[in-house]
Amino acid sequence: MEWRSLSGEERSRLQYTISHFKEIARQNRFAENGSIEHDVSRCVVCHADLVPWNPFITYLEVVTPSVLVRRPRLDQDLVDEINGDLSMLGEDHRVSIQLLRSGDAPSTQCWREWIQTALATGLGLLSIHSPTSLELDLDEAREDGMGDAIDVKILEIMREQLGSDGI
Ligand SMILES: [Zn+2]
Repeated sequence: MEWRSLSGEERSRLQYTISHFKEIARQNRFAENGSIEHDVSRCVVCHADLVPWNPFITYLEVVTPSVLVRRPRLDQDLVDEINGDLSMLGEDHRVSIQLLRSGDAPSTQCWREWIQTALATGLGLLSIHSPTSLELDLDEAREDGMGDAIDVKILEIMREQLGSDGI
């Protein structure tokens, strides 16, 4: 995910696409992202070959900021979402802001899994973006050696959500 390796034009297309999807996330319309008008000729989700990266990396780069638009910080809303997921999975553990801030290991693992699910959901929604968008699966990508790239993005989101307090 070396932006420096991109040409000015490639960078601008990637930036355009990220901004487009952030706006969709802000409007909470990710589920209908395919029906929202945009410049298809500059969209790296419609045309993954506009950027010389593995398409999975490109899509991950697009989805990550959108997750942060929906959940920018470690607050009660995020805690409620994580606990909602745990409840649905039949887990007894519950997280709190305090536990997550203190680095409690089981709670941090739940947080990590919540982010991973959010990224996976976002990727799933990009696959129905347009007739030319690619169907990429996070779990399959992890098995195909993309685990480090995924973990970098998960950490990036955690750091952002923690804010200036650091991990
Ligand atoms: Zn597009």
